[in-house]
Amino acid sequence: MKNLFVSLFFLLLTTSVFSQQYIPYYGSVVAQCSQSNITTDLTQFEALGMKRRGTTALQNTLDWLKNKYLSYGYTALQMEEQSFTNGSATCKNLILTKQGTLYPNTYVIVCGHYDSIGGTGTNDNGSGVACILETARLLQNIPTEYSIKFINFSGEEDGLVGSQSFVSNRVNATNPKMDIRLVINLDEVGGVAGLTNDTITCERDTNNNPSTNNAVSATMTNELITCVGLYSPLNTYLSYAYSSDYMPFQANNEIITGLFETNETTHKHTNTDLLIYMDPVYNYNVAQATIGATMHFAVAATSLETSNFENDSQVSFYPSPVKDFLNINLGTIADVNYTFSLIDLQGKEVLNKQIENAHFTETISLEGLSKGMYLAVLQTASKRITKKIVVE
Ligand SMILES: [Zn+2]
Repeated sequence: MKNLFVSLFFLLLTTSVFSQQYIPYYGSVVAQCSQSNITTDLTQFEALGMKRRGTTALQNTLDWLKNKYLSYGYTALQMEEQSFTNGSATCKNLILTKQGTLYPNTYVIVCGHYDSIGGTGTNDNGSGVACILETARLLQNIPTEYSIKFINFSGEEDGLVGSQSFVSNRVNATNPKMDIRLVINLDEVGGVAGLTNDTITCERDTNNNPSTNNAVSATMTNELITCVGLYSPLNTYLSYAYSSDYMPFQANNEIITGLFETNETTHKHTNTDLLIYMDPVYNYNVAQATIGATMHFAVAATSLETSNFENDSQVSFYPSPVKDFLNINLGTIADVNYTFSLIDLQGKEVLNKQIENAHFTETISLEGLSKGMYLAVLQTASKRITKKIVVE
């Protein structure tokens, strides 16, 4: 019995170690995170103005978010606008749900607020919004075992009003209550212009009211720290959770973790919380970490095979295996402008072509490419098709 016990112990030990190793496919998805999208999202978020409760700017930001998700291929049916009273105003959380394959009723929540106070809130919290958007975009057609809720909260700056309303009126509205695996909160992750922003603060639950959820939060935060190291160039600093949208979840005995910038802005809640005082490269690195962590916690597919299911548009890349020239057949896609790229198994983009006024079939030279397996990505304004190809 002792030997059996010892073997079981090592089996468990190695299993948990292996579950936190670098997964090349996750790396290949993280590699598609786009600096240009992050910077564009921040610029557009800033242009929307001060997102105070009751303002047109706040409503416009909600509409902007919805249009972003639609452009990634999500449907209106996957989104809920949850209204709640905030002082004299009615505000709305935006909840986007992506259903899991194995545990559809258990949720990983990736959240951050989109309201602001005193200014446009480009760092606090356009930066978190940009990470959430990029994560939702890249995971849209990748199966995950757990369901994911991407939530843009409002009312945070008025005292976590939106997240409190979500916990009271959604999490606790059913019996049994909503089953939450983990809440990952992003608040103020934009960095400080002019400083070396190479470290992200990972926040665990140390609150003692209740304390029953603290140990698992510590474990999950350690896993988050490992994800940051595996999927981004950032270092990590371990600290504690406070004063943001994960706290109502904490009080509800949920498991929480969070990301927060380590160099802290001096501009928050003022009219100078602007992109020029931030570090968009740092924001992009935090987005990379968020994508890797979300794939880890929601248990995304680990190979290209299982993500080849977007067959409805009948796009094909042929022949496969391919030698010198690859044909791209547009299938039922109507958009004749697209980007075609190839990503190798280490996650490095090795080819990128903008194609305008495309013919139904386009032929692309693969001259100079090494033999091996690649992820081929066809991206239009509204659709993203990924398929595996073999070059020989
Ligand atoms: Zn904030």
